[in-house]
Amino acid sequence: MRLARKFTLALVLLAVAVISGLQYIQVRRELERSALDMQHDHRLLGHTLAGAIGKAWQLAGEREALTLLHQSNRFQEQVHLRWVWLDGGPGTPPLDGFPPRLLATLRAGQDGSMVDPSPEPGLLHSYTPVIINNQRLGAIEITESLGDQQQHVRTVVVGTIAATAAITAAFFVAAMAMGRRLVGEPVDRLVKLAHRIGQGDLTARVQLPQKRGDELTALASAMNRMGEQLEETRARLASETAARLSAVEHLRHADRLTTVGKLASGVAHELGTPLNVVMGRAKMISSGEAEGEEVAECAQIISQQAHHMTGIIRQLLDFARRRAPHRAPEDVHGLVERSLSLLRPMASKRSVALEAQVPSGLALEVDGGQVQQVLTNLVMNALQAMKRPGTVHVRAEEVRATPPAAEGGAESDYVRLDVEDQGDGIPADVLPHVFEPFFTTKDVGEGTGLGLSVSYGLVRDHGGWIGVRSEPGRGSCFSIYLPRGEH
Ligand code: ADP
Repeated sequence: MRLARKFTLALVLLAVAVISGLQYIQVRRELERSALDMQHDHRLLGHTLAGAIGKAWQLAGEREALTLLHQSNRFQEQVHLRWVWLDGGPGTPPLDGFPPRLLATLRAGQDGSMVDPSPEPGLLHSYTPVIINNQRLGAIEITESLGDQQQHVRTVVVGTIAATAAITAAFFVAAMAMGRRLVGEPVDRLVKLAHRIGQGDLTARVQLPQKRGDELTALASAMNRMGEQLEETRARLASETAARLSAVEHLRHADRLTTVGKLASGVAHELGTPLNVVMGRAKMISSGEAEGEEVAECAQIISQQAHHMTGIIRQLLDFARRRAPHRAPEDVHGLVERSLSLLRPMASKRSVALEAQVPSGLALEVDGGQVQQVLTNLVMNALQAMKRPGTVHVRAEEVRATPPAAEGGAESDYVRLDVEDQGDGIPADVLPHVFEPFFTTKDVGEGTGLGLSVSYGLVRDHGGWIGVRSEPGRGSCFSIYLPRGEH
């Protein structure tokens, strides 16, 4: 039930209770008044008759006096008159049914009355004591049926109920109308406002007449203020998020460029061999050393080597280019090979072999460029950690895994990419910090401390995480977990 209706109903019930209570008191008073009126009338009649009967008894004797009383009944339709002896002498009726207190009152010379309820609708007996010849005590009994009084009471009660019902109905209608206007409508408007804000429409406002000046107006102003603040906060959050995203993007790009810088020396070395070939062959043509078909052969070799060099440079540029994240189905084997091909020159310079074990047909819905950036970072760190010749293994396999507590989530299917080296390993006191931005143990120019933190961010954006195990002196293994998705 609506608040306004409940409120109105409660008011109406309260009003009905108060009105009914008042009416009940009034009916009671009316009844008492009518009983007192009857007793008063009886007393008047009793005293009038008592004088006449006493005199008649004195002058004409008992018989005449009682006849007079008897005859008086003829003129009284509502009441019945009777003589009763109260002194226990001759003619006294059995007084067992008489209330002793009434008897005592009458014997003390005072008027009294009692109600006899046995014959429906009840009788009122009033007694006026009379002392006969200063010797005997009797009383004039005036009996009147309570039927009229009950009829009167009934009329009063019916009238009261009708009046109460009419007042209640009028009050109900008025209270409903006022409740709707003063409470129902404003509350409806506030509820609608709350709904709209809940659905994300922070521009929604409600206007209640200020002159009302009640709690609902205060609530409306507070809700409007809340909407304004939420709107401001949302705008601020959006701009802060945009700024943070752009900062992260800048960091990622900076990390890429650092990696490109590190790759460049290896790549430059890699370009040396084909360039030597190109120069040698070009010299052969220009000096005339090559003749006939040899010239064509030289030109073909020059073209092949130029192609090879263009490929290496394009790969490097592709890696350096800033791109928006874009997920697409990627073959994991291809991804790993693309990443390793750029690193091979650097690896061979350090006499380190790069070995990949990736099952064919393994695919993931990822941003290839980003995963390549992560793999490159990890393999480059692995190479830098290897001070002696050895092998860096890159493996991929499907696993069921539970995300670490910091990431949260249930056990699920992942592709795990391990990059394992045989380097120096990571000391226990360094290990908890390796993913922190700008944390590095390398010399200036060797490391920026961004690689692992950027890599972690990229993998987390894919719904995964990076784990690390390390045995100082024996090597480290970094594991990238990427959700398996529907593949
Ligand atoms: P950077 O390589 O520029 O120092 P990273 O965030 O990639 O930054 O790495 C942070 C630190 O983690 C490194 O300085 C190094 O101490 C440690 N680290 C990362 N990978 C390895 C690894 N494979 N072996 C040993 N230490 C590593």
